[in-house]
Amino acid sequence: MLPVKIVSFLCLVFLADATSGLEHQSPIALSFRGSVGTPGIVDTRYKSSSAIFENGGEKDHRELTVGFLGDAGQFNLLRKIYHIENVHFHMPSEHTINGKRYPMEIHVVHKNSEGNIAVIGLLYNVGPRADPFITQLERYLPTLASSPEESKAVFIRTINPGLLRIPADMFFRYNGSLTTPPYSENVVWNVYSQPRSLTTNQYFSVKAALKGENARALQPLNNRLVQLVQLVRSDYHGRSSF
Ligand SMILES: [Zn+2]
Repeated sequence: MLPVKIVSFLCLVFLADATSGLEHQSPIALSFRGSVGTPGIVDTRYKSSSAIFENGGEKDHRELTVGFLGDAGQFNLLRKIYHIENVHFHMPSEHTINGKRYPMEIHVVHKNSEGNIAVIGLLYNVGPRADPFITQLERYLPTLASSPEESKAVFIRTINPGLLRIPADMFFRYNGSLTTPPYSENVVWNVYSQPRSLTTNQYFSVKAALKGENARALQPLNNRLVQLVQLVRSDYHGRSSF
């Protein structure tokens, strides 16, 4: 049996670095120069479902999440089916592209039958065009923002993740982790390489409902390969996913 002092010391070391020994963490700094082009597509097939839209989390890590209650579709990746689980928001973006951090990032989280996760990341600029997926949420955002309590949840009878209009190619793909505890390293990341747009009104409505910033710091790449998934015509006709 270890003396109490040593046990306490070991506990402190563990608490001080919960990710010690984990080498493939997210988010990371992405760049076109630092990635290797590879043929493939991002094959998503979504449909409408009911959902719970809620905010909450801790002071330093707020959450704003659309959790699907029914089958809202799938992401076919490396010949496996990942079912969509939720869409959530980060402000500012967690990933950077060519050194630039964006005002917002959406994560579309999918899980396969083995419990592994595939996330699609979409980075946003504030601009002239509204995002049609967020448009579906606009009527609920004030309710989440105005709630005097810390967290609030609303039921959405039908919402379509297909309105995220996820393209088929130009995605950075790498193996990483959850960006929140327990930081599990069973995540295939697919981050769209082009920033998208939401309006100023949409940006401030989402920000008010999120109630704080929630981007994890950039993590070291540590010998990982980052691919830039690009469409090759013959791949698309075959609808195969790489
Ligand atoms: Zn996230």
